[in-house]
Order: sequence, then C-alpha cells, then structure tokens
Amino acid sequence: MTDRYAVVGNPIAHSKSPLIHAEFALQTGQDLSYTALLAPLDGFSVTVNAFRAEGGKGLNVTVPFKQEAWKLATRLTERAQLAQAVNTLKFEDGEILGDNTDGAGLVRDITHNLGFKIQGKRILLMGAGGAARGVILPLLKEYPALFAIANRTPAKAHELAQLFLVHGDISSGEYDSLAGCHFDLIINATSSSLSDELPPLPAGVFSPRSLAYDMMYGKGLTPFLLFAQTHGAEQLADGLGMLVEQAAESFFLWRGVRPDTQSVMAKLKAL
Ligand code: NDP
Repeated sequence: MTDRYAVVGNPIAHSKSPLIHAEFALQTGQDLSYTALLAPLDGFSVTVNAFRAEGGKGLNVTVPFKQEAWKLATRLTERAQLAQAVNTLKFEDGEILGDNTDGAGLVRDITHNLGFKIQGKRILLMGAGGAARGVILPLLKEYPALFAIANRTPAKAHELAQLFLVHGDISSGEYDSLAGCHFDLIINATSSSLSDELPPLPAGVFSPRSLAYDMMYGKGLTPFLLFAQTHGAEQLADGLGMLVEQAAESFFLWRGVRPDTQSVMAKLKAL
C-alpha cells in the first residue's frame, strides 16, 4: 500500500514540498504519496490527528505551526528539543516523533553545495525567530571560531544566546553593536526579505572571503543580498538549497534513503 505523507501549514498553496518529495520518491523508487494540507489556524492538532488516524506516516510542518508541532510530539530529537520548533513529524509505534531538519539542511547547503567550510569561521546570524532557533545547534556543531546573533529586538537574541550557552559561546545584541566587526558567514534568518526590507547592518561587516546567505528563496536578489554584493561579500546564496536539503533530511528520517538533491535543485531553478 502506498505510504502517505504531506506538508501542513497555513497558507500552503505556494509550498514546493509536494514537488520536491515527488521527485525524491521517483528517483529512489519509494512507493509514497505526498500532498499539501491546509490546516485552519486554530485546527493544527485536529488536522494532524485526522491524517494520522487515516494511516498517514509523516508530516512536514511549516508556518505558523512549527511550535505547535513541537508541543504535539511525544518524542523529540535533541535538535528539535533545543529549537523548540518541529518541521518533521514521524508516526511510528504509537508515538509522534518530532525532528527539526532546517539546520541540517542549511549546514549541508553551505558546506556541501556551496563548498564553504564553517569550521574556524566567524558567523553572524541575523534574526531570533523560529528559523534562527532551528539552525543554531547544527551551526555550532561545525566549530565556528565565533558566533554572534543580532536581532531588531535584542532581548530575543540574548535569550537564544543563553539557551545555547552549554553548546557554545554566542555573543548577542542589536545591529548597532556590530559596528567595527566583520564576519565570514552572514546568514539572514529574519523575515525582512518578505517585505523587501534590509536589517540595519553596518557597512563593514563582510570580510573579504565572506558568504552572504539569505534563507528567503524565490525573490531573486533580496535587499540583503544586494547590500552584501555591494559591500564586499564574495559569495551570495538564497535559501533554495536549504529548502531542498531539509526536505532530503526529512525523507531520510522517514524512508532511510538519502535522495540526490542536485537534480531537484536544478529542476526548481528552471521553473
Ligand atoms: P519569525 O516570524 O519567527 O521571525 C522573524 C524574525 O525576523 C524576527 O527575529 C524579527 O525580529 C525579524 N525581522 C522581521 N522583519 C525585520 C526587519 N524588517 N528588519 C530586521 N529584522 C526583522 O520567522 P521565521 O524565523 O519562521 O522565518 C524567517 C525567514 O526564514 C522567512 O523569510 C522564511 O521564509 C525563511 N525560512 C526559510 C527556510 C528555507 O528552507 N529556506 C526554512 C525556514 C524559514 P523581531 O524579533 O525584532 O520581531
């Protein structure tokens, strides 16, 4: 019998996940279906439980339900526990396993697809929302030389630095405090690109061999990437690779098979 999976969110019509997982299934010969589920804003757990009761095997979870999914899980991976956000649910043996594959997806895109070694580098993470939370532990596990978080509301950046203290030293603050500092890897995990805005970065933050990474995808050169281009960043990347890699990590958790991501990325870029 065909195993059923889906992505659940609100809104969901724009999601590329059904396309990505259909490609993965075709490529690996896995017998599965993957659809998009629109959950009412006050009906996440009802939607998940109905899908599970009908025999569904797993779900991807997107905006705005990642924290609710974290609460709904009966077992959590370490990275999901710390992120306090879940983007992957697996239903097995009467349990709901919650994982967060966003960080692994980001790290794989940066290190493998973009060929950028994180070890020994100076990282600046912009933003302190769900996406930022999910990527801190996997980034720290790559042994950067320095890790800083900047956020418009600095209290939230301080809170994250405290939360991850046992895993590494993180400096935190507002954008003004970055004046005079420079970084090798600057990641935009804010939602500023959605509204065509730029976080207030000081001009000299990009070191000569730096990579500027915007988690946003499908918007071409965002204000952040344009700023990076004109202020000395060597390499620019959007979040399409992260999207495909986090999907591959979910697929691996569900099916135990790692799909090839390069061909899927090429297809998405050509759309
Ligand atoms: P949240 O709403 O949880 O957090 C938004 C963050 O952005 C907050 O830190 C907020 O600051 C900050 N922010 C918003 N507007 C601005 C602005 N104009 N200037 C500076 N800071 C701003 O969102 P998420 O963390 O869930 O998502 C963030 C981004 O990551 C989205 O663009 C999303 O599409 C992308 N994403 C991409 C993925 C991928 O696979 N490529 C996966 C997951 C997310 P404050 O705290 O002050 O409000």
